[in-house]
Amino acid sequence: MFDFDAYDAHESVHFFHDEDTGLKAIIAIHSSALGPAAGGCRMWNYADSTAMTRDVLRLSHGMSYKNAMADLPLGGGKAVIWGDAKTDKTPDMFRAFGRAIESLDGRYWTAEDVGLTPTDLAYAREETRYVAGLSEGEAASGDPSPITAEGVYRGIRAAVKTRFGSDDLEGRSVAVQGVGHVGSDVVRKLCKAGAQVQIADIASEHVARLAEETGARIGSVDDILFQKVDVVSPNALGGILNPETLPKLNCEIVAGGANNQLSTPDIGDALLKRGILYAPDYVINGGGIINVAAEISGTYRTEWVASKLDRLVETLQHVFERAESEGAATNRIADEIARTRIRSAKHAKVS
Ligand code: NAD
Repeated sequence: MFDFDAYDAHESVHFFHDEDTGLKAIIAIHSSALGPAAGGCRMWNYADSTAMTRDVLRLSHGMSYKNAMADLPLGGGKAVIWGDAKTDKTPDMFRAFGRAIESLDGRYWTAEDVGLTPTDLAYAREETRYVAGLSEGEAASGDPSPITAEGVYRGIRAAVKTRFGSDDLEGRSVAVQGVGHVGSDVVRKLCKAGAQVQIADIASEHVARLAEETGARIGSVDDILFQKVDVVSPNALGGILNPETLPKLNCEIVAGGANNQLSTPDIGDALLKRGILYAPDYVINGGGIINVAAEISGTYRTEWVASKLDRLVETLQHVFERAESEGAATNRIADEIARTRIRSAKHAKVS
């Protein structure tokens, strides 16, 4: 356990095996310095338990940083369930997962991630109250995508202001990869603000509908990232900024909602060298977790979500400013700020 790269002094890692339901799950708590650990649960058919452990540690570590940058009273954690989300799920398995969470006594809050649905969460909720992202209930926060999209849109404006001196999007060119829940809303907002938008998605029917609705131009899935534009906005897959794509980028800014855009952190350094301003993904896409945090607080308040979103955009702006003044990559600066926030909270707790 201690040898995994992403172990990074996790506070605790819990293994659960419920023989009756077949549940095999790991819950990793990276840090609870800022508050109870929060992060979604992923169900995936891992090749082996090493791959499963590596994934949960990496994701849990990432949630610590994301929650810290969104200025939330939450630490970082994540859960993974081993199995095929299409064939292996049962209601009892998720009830057993709920009991596993309950045994941690509020130290970890779960939500939806890849492979889970609101129905699965509802079964877990029968056994524990530490479940968020529900579609029904007193404080239910529902689909986080509109808030994520608002954060991404405002993050694009902040990046445009940093690079061009004004956040006016009139006539600015933007290429958007992926127009699902988040990307489609980002496109609507960009078009409304007068940007020249190109869109591409492997789901061609989404693209045609959105193009008709917004006036966005349809681009090609194969080279949407390489367009000569002011902004490339990735809102589909992770790992799209890598040694192969980097030399082909032809933009001033990369700013989008997709998780884990950099294949490795040193790609951030390479983007800086190429003069491309990168909005760190886990900062610009923090709107979703802000929405979930509102539910965890016990009462969903729209004003609280709005004020946290304002603060998120300020934090992103601060990352851009510090990166510029220190000549460092934006992802390195964001990591450093997140680490400092977590460390200060930890020391404040101890002293
Ligand atoms: P989604 O599944 O609704 O949309 C993703 C879209 O990308 C789909 O329309 C899909 O067809 C398209 N796509 C897949 N492969 C593609 C390719 N090669 N080229 C072009 N398009 C492709 O997902 P979403 O909820 O909109 O999330 C998008 C990204 O944002 C994901 O990386 C997700 O992890 C991240 N994110 C989402 C939220 C949220 O609130 N939904 C919050 C934080 C981060």
